[in-house]
Amino acid sequence: MGAVERDTRILARFVEVYCRTKHSGAEKTVHELDPETRIALCADCRELLSYSIRRRELCPQDPKPSCKDCKIHCYRPEMRARIREVMRHSGMYMIKRGRIDWVLHYFL
Ligand code: SF4
Ligand SMILES: [Zn+2]
Repeated sequence: MGAVERDTRILARFVEVYCRTKHSGAEKTVHELDPETRIALCADCRELLSYSIRRRELCPQDPKPSCKDCKIHCYRPEMRARIREVMRHSGMYMIKRGRIDWVLHYFL
């Protein structure tokens, strides 16, 4: 698996946890990123995930640092605030459930 594909799956997993735990009452549509990654997201989370995946695909940094350590900060401020909230919330959720393996990839 390439780095972009791996990071895309990680982003999707974090946004999926956020949407499931924070937006449980929202109307959702299923999103198939690849045959192994099918996730249900509300419209807001779908927008945020699409934006973040696009940023990752267009990232000019090679090797890519963690976004939180990046000097470019290519995200729009509002989107950066939203993805950071997602990573913080879902990161805590995964730690509490013993999924430290996912959080080690925490890159925003
Ligand atoms: S914030 Fe920096 S490291 Fe993250 S995707 Fe944008 S340019 Fe790349
Ligand atoms: Zn949502």
